[in-house]
Amino acid sequence: MKVLMVAAEMVPYAKTGGLADVVGSLPLALKNDDMEIKCILPYYSMVEQSGVDVTAELIGIPVEMGNEKFTGNILRKKGADAVEVYFVQQHQFFAREGLYGTPAGDFPDNLKRFIFFSKVVLRFCELINFAPDIIHCHDWQAGLIPVYIKTLAKNKPVFRKTAIIFTIHNIAYQGLFDAAQFQLTDLPHSVFTVDGLEYWGNMNWLKAGINFSDYINTVSLKYSQEIQTPEFGYGMDGILRNRRHRLTGIINGVDYAVWNPETDKLIAANYSIQDLKGKKKCKADLLASFNLPKSAKDRPVLGIISRLAAQKGFDLLAEIIEHLMERNLIVVLLGTGEQIYHDLFQDIANRYPGKIGVKIAFDNQLAHKIEAGSDMFLMPSRYEPCGLNQIYSLKYGTIPIVHATGGLDDTVQAYDPNSGKGNGFKFYNYTAGAFLAAIDQALELYSRPDEWKKIILNGMQADFSWEKSALSYKALYELALGLATLK
Ligand code: ADP
Repeated sequence: MKVLMVAAEMVPYAKTGGLADVVGSLPLALKNDDMEIKCILPYYSMVEQSGVDVTAELIGIPVEMGNEKFTGNILRKKGADAVEVYFVQQHQFFAREGLYGTPAGDFPDNLKRFIFFSKVVLRFCELINFAPDIIHCHDWQAGLIPVYIKTLAKNKPVFRKTAIIFTIHNIAYQGLFDAAQFQLTDLPHSVFTVDGLEYWGNMNWLKAGINFSDYINTVSLKYSQEIQTPEFGYGMDGILRNRRHRLTGIINGVDYAVWNPETDKLIAANYSIQDLKGKKKCKADLLASFNLPKSAKDRPVLGIISRLAAQKGFDLLAEIIEHLMERNLIVVLLGTGEQIYHDLFQDIANRYPGKIGVKIAFDNQLAHKIEAGSDMFLMPSRYEPCGLNQIYSLKYGTIPIVHATGGLDDTVQAYDPNSGKGNGFKFYNYTAGAFLAAIDQALELYSRPDEWKKIILNGMQADFSWEKSALSYKALYELALGLATLK
């Protein structure tokens, strides 16, 4: 099977979010002797800064966009890797800081940048005579590719048998553009309809991806159901309900080569299901990292690592934080994001010394230390397509307390004292009261060490490796191929 993976981000070359992790890991997990996989993304300044060694594959590819003409190059990562990685180089569009914009807002030419990218990707297949069975498109930036394949490129021999998968990583980002720019796509006007890519008079590239692909998936089963409702759909719910028979969810895997307490080099001591002793050392080390008193080691430590944004449930945390400070526990928080939360948590840290450690930063090593050294992990997200930190927490024997939404609901099973099954705690109504009640339930169980240990071990046994998710993607590719040949 030949697969072309098209995305705007990929670890370790360019990343702003979870999309990059998926595109970095999934191809490696999919790869076997029957699979030929190529990945392609733009050659941003960030890619150049990553130090990847590249060679020119195709030079001076002409691209027309409306009345304008551009040229671009295809670079290939050097070396005999299992998965081939290609980059679309075009100085005017991609040689700049930032992937989609600056803190002041989106780049004004994003439409042109990603039309150009899409067109070069299709030309690339023709020029190297690569006939993909599957083109796997990710998020709005790749949303026009399915439209081109189903219209202008329909009769190109390389795409005769191609089926298209479209993965939605976060429905809130849709790629909305002014209708006046539609002519730059060079697409027929017949696609600018309510069943096509038109959305309230504008172009919507996410909608394009949804409507023109053979199969659509999101990064958890629960999220694939939630986005069909007005509450979570960000305006796409009706469109997704229309296509619900072609919509599924596959949970992201995590990289256990990086996130594993048995081998993690960034934590104070390693530990495993068989021998948990190291976790105590990690807790002491974590407390020291936050200048918290040694005596705090007998109290439960609640960890948080997050973008500080309302999506992540910080509105609820803000409501309950004073109540938490009255309880016999310690909170450690690592994050960056919205200024109101920076101010709020700095203020709490000043008022409750010795009870809460706050670091406003992006700090990978500290993130590992928090996963290893905490007893519980808080993730009250309002919505969460997949979420990674709760999955890391399970592996590190740190009990997640989560809002039952999206990937959080799919990966965390509420502990049931009767059966002894479950690996965490959940709350179902998105309210401060429900969140606090779930924490109190966890605190109650923490005071019973034998039972607590059972929950820890249940969590550490869970397997969210990429190998497992890759099998689901492989099955999805086969399904889409079958459906594409039916047409
Ligand atoms: P999202 O992609 O929505 O931000 P995820 O839970 O899917 O949320 O992934 C977040 C990733 O970013 C995790 O790997 C987490 O450890 C990391 N992360 C988030 N904030 C920080 C931070 N301040 N310092 C270090 N790592 C962070």
